[in-house]
Amino acid sequence: MLIFKEVNALRTYLEASEEAGKTVGFVPTMGALHEGHMALIRASNASNDITLSTIFVNPAQFNEQSDFDSYPVQIEQDAAKLELENCTVLYLPKVEEVYPSGDYEKPVFDFKGLDSQMEGAFRPGHFFGVGEVIKRFIDLMPFHRMYLGAKDYQQVQIVKRVVEQFDYDVEVVSVPTEREAGGLAMSSRNLLLSKEAKEAANVIYQTLSWVRDHYSFDQLDQLLEAAKAKINHSEHLEVEYLIAADASTLQILKNAEPTPVVLCISVWANGVRLIDNIVIEREYSIG
Ligand code: AMP
Repeated sequence: MLIFKEVNALRTYLEASEEAGKTVGFVPTMGALHEGHMALIRASNASNDITLSTIFVNPAQFNEQSDFDSYPVQIEQDAAKLELENCTVLYLPKVEEVYPSGDYEKPVFDFKGLDSQMEGAFRPGHFFGVGEVIKRFIDLMPFHRMYLGAKDYQQVQIVKRVVEQFDYDVEVVSVPTEREAGGLAMSSRNLLLSKEAKEAANVIYQTLSWVRDHYSFDQLDQLLEAAKAKINHSEHLEVEYLIAADASTLQILKNAEPTPVVLCISVWANGVRLIDNIVIEREYSIG
């Protein structure tokens, strides 16, 4: 695996690869890599000649300094995992390369309301930071496809919108969520959980699945209340939000029409914020 710490050298390499007719799949990460990230690397390897990954804890997308400060960093372990998974290139950007002072102008996004609920509402500025870093990466490095995890459902829709708004020739591919055996979505933040909280957090996905299996629009309010109660029953967990939204506009569901529906959840687990979601492809009925 080639490791670049400097964008000009990386760009020269990528441009030469492009001229040689090779396709490049891009997997952006913030490190502390786990099987979820490896699923993205495998998806990229399956469809591209070159897989380019980045590890960059993007300061622009953290709305809490303490969250940024406690974010796990383990570059050497991460590089070893990427190498084992046959990632071709790793770029470790410096903050100054991504956000140069001077002539760099902040982008203006039109997210068309995709950012108004859920993570956008509870983490002010978060999606501007996500959009900004993704736009910078697209402007800095040539690649053909970008691989993102469905675990961050709203993020995938935001990135697709950035690509559409700026008319970039990049395909955004969403990869299914990798889970622990008990159902908990894999996340770098799981490293910060106590053993008890991690065990308890399995109820999050079990409960989302339960709502999906019993879904009916008429019963939605009661189902969501019962789901929150099931999760809050654990002394380690507290639901921040549980929302059923139209899976394409990400607006809170107001009538039975939109399908698919996405259920999005954020839960505090002993001071660690976990998110997950499940897509309901059609109406399920009881019995
Ligand atoms: P992060 O390092 O948390 O910023 O995540 C980098 C990428 O990995 C994002 O596109 C995430 O959605 C994706 N990702 C994180 N966790 C998972 C998971 N459990 N399964 C699949 N993809 C994931």
